[in-house]
Amino acid sequence: MKLPRPLSHSSISLYGECPQKYKFKYVDKIPEKPRHFFSFGQSVHSALEFFYGVKTPEPPPLADLLKNYQEVWVAAGYRDEAQEAEYFAEGKRILAEFHRKHSRDFHVPYFVEYAYNFEVDGVPVTGRVDRVDKLPDGRLRVLDYKTGKKLATGRLESDAQLTMYQYACETLLGAEIGELVFYHLPTLKEHRTTRRGAPLVDALKARIVTTAESIEKELFEPKPDESVCRWCDYKPLCPVFKDQYAGRPAAPARASGEPELAALVDKYGAAVAAAEAAREEADRAGRELADALRKKGYVRAFGAGFEVSLSPSVRWEFLDKKKVLKLIKEAGAYEKVLAPSAPLVHKLIEDPATDAALRERLAEEGERVESPELKLRPL
Ligand code: SF4
Repeated sequence: MKLPRPLSHSSISLYGECPQKYKFKYVDKIPEKPRHFFSFGQSVHSALEFFYGVKTPEPPPLADLLKNYQEVWVAAGYRDEAQEAEYFAEGKRILAEFHRKHSRDFHVPYFVEYAYNFEVDGVPVTGRVDRVDKLPDGRLRVLDYKTGKKLATGRLESDAQLTMYQYACETLLGAEIGELVFYHLPTLKEHRTTRRGAPLVDALKARIVTTAESIEKELFEPKPDESVCRWCDYKPLCPVFKDQYAGRPAAPARASGEPELAALVDKYGAAVAAAEAAREEADRAGRELADALRKKGYVRAFGAGFEVSLSPSVRWEFLDKKKVLKLIKEAGAYEKVLAPSAPLVHKLIEDPATDAALRERLAEEGERVESPELKLRPL
């Protein structure tokens, strides 16, 4: 098959994360549901595009920036109005502080939201750089805005997105990169690094070509990973989880033509999100209680309405999930687990009906972890 669309940093990353997920999104064109953190990032990015989009040496006043922020605000994907209001206020805070800081050193950038298209060995690649500045010596400074609460600065020196921006700007704008910057907006901190050397650029080009080749060969094998599948919108369609959803016809990806159904979907989503928040709170309280019991050497305690007891619990942990999946597949037991999730593999190891050789090999791959568990009952 032909590439369904030019590659981009995010589509290459998605293919690397799970080729099947790439297929659902870009080949089958099934949209993912909106996420609040993408909406938030998009809103703040659009407001900064307005801030730097002026053609005069004077920055727009703060009131205009905030008015624009309100106009470009993307409301999709928030759990409820309270969460949306919280993020909206955080965006206002970021923009007000950004305005205060950068009105003083304001300059018209070389490019804002620079859209690029290039080819590597005939493979088309597209993308957008948040901002490009010209340094006094004529070289370029490339900035990527980050709006997440935390920034993993460990990847600054090797991040493939910055490498791609460097390659795009140097190839298309004909000037050398002097500085690559992750600009963490919540803290207004610039994390800078110098231009990439040839090994990282060559690795990026090779990855572009091999990803395109794999897509053209239609290699869309699912790559199950608990931490990814948990949040994957395509789980009900995914072959790895087919038995869990067997017999259920897929609903249309968007219920926009059916407002009643859409309202029920959102009601259910909000309830699940609230339940998850409550679960996190319960987990925190449980950890606190277990620590307090352990410190005192107790295995049971009473409150006014509940009793808890502390009992040992056992689980298996696996580092190399791919290897575990391979062992299970080779032993013909794949249908029993469907994915190398720890509880399912635990069941397989502990099940006396499982082939003894497989149990032994799985046990060699994992670590048996004993951890205490709280049991709660009302009085
Ligand atoms: S559920 Fe997991 S394996 Fe299936 S498409 Fe999503 S990420 Fe891939």
